[in-house]
Formats: sequence, C-alpha cells, structure tokens
Amino acid sequence: GSLLIATSLNKTYGHTPALDGADFSIHPGEVVAVMGPSGSGKSTLLHCLAGIVRPDSGTVQYNGRELTAMSDSERSGLRRGEFGFVFQFGQLVPELSCVENVALPLRLNGAKRKEAEARAESWMERLEVADVAHKRPGEVSGGQGQRVAVARSLVTSPRVLFADEPTGALDSLNGERVMELLTEAARESRTAVVLVTHEARVAAYSDREVVVRDGKARDMAGVR
Ligand code: ADP
Ligand code: ADP
Repeated sequence: GSLLIATSLNKTYGHTPALDGADFSIHPGEVVAVMGPSGSGKSTLLHCLAGIVRPDSGTVQYNGRELTAMSDSERSGLRRGEFGFVFQFGQLVPELSCVENVALPLRLNGAKRKEAEARAESWMERLEVADVAHKRPGEVSGGQGQRVAVARSLVTSPRVLFADEPTGALDSLNGERVMELLTEAARESRTAVVLVTHEARVAAYSDREVVVRDGKARDMAGVR
C-alpha cells in the first residue's frame, strides 16, 4: 500500500491559491518526481506532505495516520525520526566539519558522538565524499557539499526523503552524479523519495512523474 497519501489538498496564501485540490501518493521505496512550472504549487505540496505547512483543507495520511490531526510535537517527531530533507542551498552548518554535519541528525536523536560519526562516515563513503569528512562546508565544491547534504538526509534511514530541487545549484554533470547516488541509496534502503524538480533530466531518475499545474497534481503514470 501507499506510505504517504494526500487527498484534495487546498492551500491559499492571502488571495494566492497555491494548491487547488491536489492529490498525491507514494509507495515505500518509490522515487516520484514532482514537476511543473515555477509557482505551480510544487513546494507547497512538498511542505504539506512533510507536515511543515498545514493545508486549508484536505488530508495527508502517513502510514495510515492523519498528519493534520497530530500534535505539533508528534509531527516534529515524525520529521526528525522518519523523514529526511534535502534542499537546493544553504543546508550545511558552516562551523561544523562535513562529518559533523552528517552526524548531526543522529546526535539530535541522542546518539553518542563516536557512533554517530562512524555511521556518518559510512554514508559519506556511499556518496563518495569520505575524503572531505574533516573539511568545513566552505572548503568543498558545490557538488561535494550537495553529496554531503544527501548523506546527512539519509543518515537516519528515513522512510521518506523530501528533496526540493536537490541539484538546482549544480552543473549537469555534478547534478547527474548526485541523482545517481541519491536514487541508488534510496532504493537500497527502501526510502521513498518525493523529488521536486523542474528539470526533465533530473526527473528521469524517478519511477513516476506527477505534474503540478495551477495547484492541481496530475499523475503521469503510463505517459512515459
Ligand atoms: P513552486 O514550488 O511550484 O514554485 P510554490 O508552491 O512555491 O510553487 O508556490 C505556489 C504559489 O503560492 C505561488 O504563487 C507562490 O508565490 C505562492 N506562495 C508559496 N509560498 C508562499 C508563502 N509562504 N506566502 C505567500 N505566497 C506563497
Ligand atoms: P521554489 O519553490 O522555486 O524552490 P521558493 O519556495 O523559495 O522557491 O518560492 C516559491 C515561490 O513562493 C516564489 O514565487 C516566492 O516568491 C514565493 N514565496 C515563498 N515564500 C514566500 C513568502 N514568505 N511570502 C511570499 N511569497 C513567498
């Protein structure tokens, strides 16, 4: 069955409709690309699915539980324990080394430093950035920094990874390598990936595409 199901989501900012009856679902281990023009509602959909934005109406069910009915602390527990996030820019803490950045979510969940950093290092190896473990984010390339961010998003073995334009700041060669490594790691650990992108060559790494237009989401299953 589906891990995450959104039904008839509506969200308006002031007079600006961001979502207008959007539906979405994703299975464990599935990589779904959410595509569409700028301003169509992709990020709002992702934020509703992740419990960061509360829709005006509609439902989001994670593992059979209604997200909008949970308390704030239950929702933030879910975000820390079962969800991972990777964005376009500015996600690494500049004062920490790369391995400390990757270990951070584990440390926040109470893991001991040694254990957390050992696990962080094994994820950095998988993302082919073990060699920058002791550098600061400011000392690594854009592609390396983004692979460090992906390692950090997966270190807690989330059930769902939310990726909003994860390669948006990279050139195409680095972007493709990040997508290869991200999707390979996610498939191995059966992590579902909600991948927001406006680039077809990034969406090509997905199992399925959903196109958002004017706040409505249309499943492109069978179209490709
Ligand atoms: P996309 O991710 O496809 O670019 P968004 O979900 O970010 O689209 O935005 C959908 C619409 O909602 C746009 O018109 C945008 O300007 C508006 N919007 C998004 N977030 C906010 C916000 N926090 N406050 C006001 N308007 C917003
Ligand atoms: P993207 O969705 O392309 O990653 P953003 O989420 O930063 O980019 O913004 C998407 C759209 O939502 C933009 O048009 C932006 O102007 C609008 N937006 C985001 N946050 C706000 C806000 N707090 N107030 C008004 N508009 C916003």
